[in-house]
Amino acid sequence: MTHGRGKLIVISAPSGCGKTTITNALLRRNPEFIFSVSATTRTKRRNEVHGKHYFFLTEDEFRKAIDNNELVEWEEIYGDCYGTLKRVIDEALESGKVILFDIDVNGGLSIKKHYPDDTVLIFIKPPSLEDLKKRLRGRKTEGVEQLERRLQRVPMELEKGKLFDYSIVNDDLDKAIHEVNKIVHNEIHSVTN
Ligand code: ADP
Ligand code: 5GP
Repeated sequence: MTHGRGKLIVISAPSGCGKTTITNALLRRNPEFIFSVSATTRTKRRNEVHGKHYFFLTEDEFRKAIDNNELVEWEEIYGDCYGTLKRVIDEALESGKVILFDIDVNGGLSIKKHYPDDTVLIFIKPPSLEDLKKRLRGRKTEGVEQLERRLQRVPMELEKGKLFDYSIVNDDLDKAIHEVNKIVHNEIHSVTN
């Protein structure tokens, strides 16, 4: 989209449901979309790049970003802090771009509260809890303790997900990508008309 006001597309899900995979697929299909790079105090995973996946900050740096009002919202999740940078949103809205957020349910609801007319909330669900556990273990990015922490949050996330505008089950990955892509394009269309 190159005209009008931008659109904020939030994709949330319990950890391991496939939101990163789906977000990346959407960015590949729609090179004009941008990704909201969040700030976090979490340790960088092997394949992650500072400034591309996250801005990896120390706790001190994160605290300063809060004090300087640089974050629209932030949450402590699994023992680390994650937050959305205000300037990323403002730049996207002013330039009329579609921006994708891979953030948690509470962050998504906060963004909607701050930008009610510009935000679309999409929740990704696993086919079952068993599938979710299998995927998280298969990703091999967390130890047993972190995995348990992520699973403990699932009931709260499923509950808050009910407040989202759309809910998609990620069973067949290609189908889920197609459905989310369709929702986003319908929403963009409704803005420009
Ligand atoms: P999230 O970002 O929600 O934590 P990821 O995108 O990292 O989740 O996906 C978790 C794992 O599940 C990854 O290893 C990914 O390849 C796999 N995965 C994603 N979608 C599916 C699917 N529909 N079927 C099977 N595996 C999937
Ligand atoms: P991960 O450590 O797996 O990258 O992310 C952990 C959780 O933090 C995921 O649910 C992810 O969507 C969420 N998250 C990432 N960035 C932000 C953010 O800026 N704000 C909020 N509220 N959650 C975030």
